[in-house]
Amino acid sequence: MKIIIGVLALQGAYQKHVDSLTMLGVESRLIRKTSELEQCCALILPGGESTTMSLLLQENGLHEAIKQFANEYPVMGVCAGLIMMASEVDDERITPLALVQFKALRNFYGRQLHSFTADIKLNFDDDTYRAPFIRAPDIEELSGDIQTLASYNDKAVMIGQGKHIAMSFHPELTDDTRIHAYWINQF
Ligand code: GLN
Repeated sequence: MKIIIGVLALQGAYQKHVDSLTMLGVESRLIRKTSELEQCCALILPGGESTTMSLLLQENGLHEAIKQFANEYPVMGVCAGLIMMASEVDDERITPLALVQFKALRNFYGRQLHSFTADIKLNFDDDTYRAPFIRAPDIEELSGDIQTLASYNDKAVMIGQGKHIAMSFHPELTDDTRIHAYWINQF
């Protein structure tokens, strides 16, 4: 089967994910309506503004469609996309998709510093990863079967559950494709 990965393109930092996938030789489709999901066997929820993303997902029927899609296919969530994947968010304006059982705290790292880059340790690779954090959320209250795939300052910054992964930093803003490659290799 040919792999085509959908990249949610309602709002936010989606184009760079297309570039990362192209670097890996993987085809992608921008997703703006439910019918566009049909060609895809995986989906990326990019960074952006989670309050806006939540509203737009509800308005065009993608909220339910993505929940259904995620029962069968892998989803990767980045920053605001991670917030959308949570089961609970510390902001009542957001209705998360509840694809993975954890609580997201918005702008957790943003309070100290707007954005920064940090070397983090991945649990699936020996070399450290230079991760850009931009008003990044915190990951809390992880259910027992969630794997922590990367940490920073003793806090989980990348998690996985089954075929889904979520991270509070932006792997698409680097030329290092190890994160996208790791996810795709699990398909
Ligand atoms: N702080 C943003 C939010 O809560 C997320 C930032 C990002 O995606 N880089 O939606």
